[in-house]
Amino acid sequence: MSITENLDYFNSELAETNARLLAVSKTKPISDIKEAYLAGQRLFGENTVQELTEKYNQLPKDIEWHLIGHLQTNKVKYIVPFVSLIHSVDSLKLLVEIDKQAQKAGRVINCLLEVFIADEESKFGFLPNEIIPLLKSDEFKNLNNIQVLGLMGIASNTDDVGKIDREFAKIKALFEIIKNDISDPKITMTELSIGMSSDYKIALRHGSTLVRIGSAIFGNRNYSA
Ligand SMILES: *Cc1c(COP(=O)(O)O)cnc(C)c1O
Repeated sequence: MSITENLDYFNSELAETNARLLAVSKTKPISDIKEAYLAGQRLFGENTVQELTEKYNQLPKDIEWHLIGHLQTNKVKYIVPFVSLIHSVDSLKLLVEIDKQAQKAGRVINCLLEVFIADEESKFGFLPNEIIPLLKSDEFKNLNNIQVLGLMGIASNTDDVGKIDREFAKIKALFEIIKNDISDPKITMTELSIGMSSDYKIALRHGSTLVRIGSAIFGNRNYSA
């Protein structure tokens, strides 16, 4: 199947849902992204600052670029001028740095808080019980150039559908609590970024609004990034 055919498949899978398709192009060449772009795809995700920046520079400027991988504070400044959404905010320190760089750039940066929902698959993310205290903290209240649009989670890499189901249920429940209980203009709660090539169907059942699909669009990667 070609990239274009794979995109058609996912667009029809998502047609009756509230979810948008984030094409995860990490490790893939510019030519693959151009093919997807010509097929109409505009949302692309990368997991490193270097690849995101290089690809941004070489590709049409109406692409919405999302960072989905761990972000080091010293690299925030490189992506703040153009990034549309950072999915992988995993510490207050990082949020403070994004706010600071966003202020310098005269932007408000859209962020998702990454929640650790798997057993040991992902090394990064807040624990579920850390999120609400963070959002209610004075440090958070002092930020002016970030907007929290929702949560991101990575389920365990397992064939155990029940386990993935429980992990997505956990993040969805947290999402709803924040949405219903916390009133703050800096918190919008419109995006729940869950689901990858192997588990997006389960994620859609739990109300995903952004599925992050890499290998099922572009083929297997040479290294697992
Ligand atoms: C690589 C990656 C994806 C896409 O994974 P596939 O299994 O190739 O669809 C999604 N989310 C994150 C955070 C990733 O790093």
